[in-house]
Amino acid sequence: MISIKSLSKNYNDNEVLKDINLSFNPGEIHGIVGENGAGKTTLFKAIAGIESFEGVIGYSKGNLKNVMGFLQTDPYFLSKITGKEYLRLLCKARSQKEIAISEKNIFDLPLDQYAETYSTGMQKKLALTGILMQKNDVYILDEPFNGVDIHSNTIINQILLKLKELNKIIILSSHIFSTLYDTCDYLHYLKNGSILRSADKSEFQTIEKEMQGAGIQYKIDKLNLK
Ligand code: ADP
Repeated sequence: MISIKSLSKNYNDNEVLKDINLSFNPGEIHGIVGENGAGKTTLFKAIAGIESFEGVIGYSKGNLKNVMGFLQTDPYFLSKITGKEYLRLLCKARSQKEIAISEKNIFDLPLDQYAETYSTGMQKKLALTGILMQKNDVYILDEPFNGVDIHSNTIINQILLKLKELNKIIILSSHIFSTLYDTCDYLHYLKNGSILRSADKSEFQTIEKEMQGAGIQYKIDKLNLK
């Protein structure tokens, strides 16, 4: 289990995460949903151990870093490395023996091409393939659906359900509610750095309404678009 207790984060005087308390169990898919700037990426970076914070993040099975795959919002590849070489390197880093990489090419990527020539969505899929090949226990996926085509979205959803079946801990984020609807068991609505509400499936529609916010129509009328 991962437990987050009293987590806060300031950038200068700007408090971007405020007293976050959450726990994530194996076999559960959790979605962090919130608008741009809500603090999702900062929260994920704190969990991934690449951003400082106040508070406690605990993991019941030892060192989280050794068993965690972190998909960043916009992974990109700068050096001259092919997709295949990248995946090989990742496996070596985790001391895994040589495997047939082409069999793992779930998104049908052009693995002999330089990864830097991939589109944004393809780079994201390459990074995700690498994380999956590492056989992690914990998956932290920041906006996995953003910039990815619909067919790949479906594949990612199927993968998430498989990981759940395998009792992994899965935490993902999105600024678009509907992308989380199908797979998540729990949603946590993050707004201005605070978790406003956590809900199980039975309450998803309530959260969606809250996210849409009251008074939008009033503001649009005020624009006087005639
Ligand atoms: P989200 O992922 O939900 O879009 P972020 O976690 O990226 O939100 O950002 C949350 C807030 O923290 C925003 O107000 C953003 O401007 C601020 N922020 C993020 N990174 C930095 C940084 N390195 N320095 C200063 N402010 C930052």
